[in-house]
Amino acid sequence: MSTLMVSVSGIRGIVGDGLDPQTLVKYTQAYSNFCGEGKIVIGSDGRISGTMVKSIVIGTLLAKGNDVVDLGITPTPTVLYNIKKFNAAGGIVISASHNPNEWNALKLLNSDGEFMTPEQNKEILELLDKPSQFKSWDKLGKLEVSEAGLMNHLNDVLSLKYIDFGAIRKRKFRVLLDCVNGAGSYIMPKLLEELGCEVIKINCEKNGIFPRLPEPIPENLTETMKTVIDNNAEIGIVVDPDVDRLVLITERGEPFIEENTITQAVKFILSKEKGDVVVNLSTTRAVDDVAKEFGAKVFRSPVGEANVVKKMKEVNAVIGGEGSGGVILPAIHYGRDALVGTVLTLQHLLEFGGTMSELKESLPKYNIVKGKIETKDHNPDDIVNRLMEKYHNEKINTEDGLRIDFDDHWVHFRQSNTEPIIRCIVEADKKENAEKYMKKYFTALSELML
Ligand code: MG
Repeated sequence: MSTLMVSVSGIRGIVGDGLDPQTLVKYTQAYSNFCGEGKIVIGSDGRISGTMVKSIVIGTLLAKGNDVVDLGITPTPTVLYNIKKFNAAGGIVISASHNPNEWNALKLLNSDGEFMTPEQNKEILELLDKPSQFKSWDKLGKLEVSEAGLMNHLNDVLSLKYIDFGAIRKRKFRVLLDCVNGAGSYIMPKLLEELGCEVIKINCEKNGIFPRLPEPIPENLTETMKTVIDNNAEIGIVVDPDVDRLVLITERGEPFIEENTITQAVKFILSKEKGDVVVNLSTTRAVDDVAKEFGAKVFRSPVGEANVVKKMKEVNAVIGGEGSGGVILPAIHYGRDALVGTVLTLQHLLEFGGTMSELKESLPKYNIVKGKIETKDHNPDDIVNRLMEKYHNEKINTEDGLRIDFDDHWVHFRQSNTEPIIRCIVEADKKENAEKYMKKYFTALSELML
């Protein structure tokens, strides 16, 4: 069976088993038809197959008459950021994000420098089977290779108004950096060196081969956490291959916990600026507690960057993000950006004056547990609908599956679009309580499927 998956954020598959040249041409030409005649900005995350995928994508766009700006190997947020800089009609990131070496993907972006909206994606899907017209030799698009994209992004992040560049430089943070040999290797060392940090690098090779599973979750970071201690680093900074997720490690070599990346960033920004916050429905309640201290409101959106951004614009939020280590700061651009997360963290740590583990300790404490249950012959939508009936008297949100908020915990049920499963996320004050509630909800789910 082909591994090709089509979702709201683009197409994804295993190279040689789904993500093949014909498929790439088909999607790229539909995307070109959607964008029209403008310029398209391209970047890739550095994985080996990026060269093959990018050649086909660029070739197709040129054949369609689109001018192309190739930013080279760059983070996803760098491409998002540069669409407006280059006055482009859109952008494509060639990256399967945190998925292993064998995967690749096209992430399709719109002319606002954001992920395509679900409506825009639908338009592209409708264009897929329309016959395509290609240009004659004298009307082909032109290709520009630009290194300015990375520098534009880097310089703007460094001149963020909340950052005291001189003070951070003077502080000389000792930082352990792990870019999993992805696109971060091309920009993160430079960012930290500009900030006067003493940088100890692991997995910052530009060879495009991920030496471990690239998702920055604790079980994949045991070696990295140990290296933080071995090198007496004050902080460990880990990014995923396309640098939209930021994961931190304390000076004790312990996870700062990915949910805390957004929590501390929210706390820092609200200490500087009045305004509201948007996070997705699966994100920790710690964000609400922090926002309350500043009299700010927290709005919840469905899971997914495009949804968070949509809500942020609606409510004019000053910061937003997702619990998996994604920080979105509209002052730079509307996209999850680990460069932005990094400078905010260092400035926050500087002003806080303590260690990373003390900073972690100062944040509200919650524990999230995640599980999933197979629905077998049952339609996941039906099961979630029945849960909605069962809990209709509680404080519920049904914008993306079902989230129920209780005083001492919350639970979020989300059905998958591609598999017969329901994901279940529970957060409580202590791990054992979260696990206790998880058990309770699994029993409730099983009973609904009898
Ligand atoms: Mg990513």
